[in-house]
Amino acid sequence: MDIVAIVGRPNVGKSTLFNRLIGERQSIVDDQSGVTRDRQYGQSHWNGKEFAVVDTGGFVRNSDDVFEAAIRDQVEIAIEEATVILFMVDVTTGITDLDEEVAQMLRRAEKPVLLAVNKVDNNQRQLEANEFWSLGFEQTFFLSSVTGSGTGDLLDAAVEYI
Ligand code: GDP
Ligand code: MG
Repeated sequence: MDIVAIVGRPNVGKSTLFNRLIGERQSIVDDQSGVTRDRQYGQSHWNGKEFAVVDTGGFVRNSDDVFEAAIRDQVEIAIEEATVILFMVDVTTGITDLDEEVAQMLRRAEKPVLLAVNKVDNNQRQLEANEFWSLGFEQTFFLSSVTGSGTGDLLDAAVEYI
């Protein structure tokens, strides 16, 4: 089955989107930091297409180096196994060094990557979100995983590859 992988650093909202996609609370959402361990798989469908969704880990670790390495590992697995990758970032923090690092890996990947700028809950944030175009992803989407706004357009684009 085709796999849609959600990658990105902790706390950007990956599990919130995952839960919305699979329609059950299979993945743990935490207010402090990402707590999803390793990888969670769920099944979803959109526009009549079935696919598996992968929520990549929360990696609660102490050392920043281990932490970064764990994210790199997850991105590498996604590049290998996914049909399409959703790279999630967070408008409330802006672009971080880790975002830049993941972006660099994904730009080199020969897989379709959709940039999902999350937490765009209102018009002010929509303006702020424009900075993410600078990451260089032609397919950039603005969404709020909490309200669901923008998630439909993202999924429409994702299932084009399935
Ligand atoms: P993950 O670590 O990337 O899996 O992030 P989570 O899904 O656990 O979310 C981290 C925090 O961000 C939680 O408090 C979520 O409720 C919050 N969050 C997720 N999506 C949104 C969103 O679209 N808007 C806002 N305001 N908060 C969000
Ligand atoms: Mg999570």
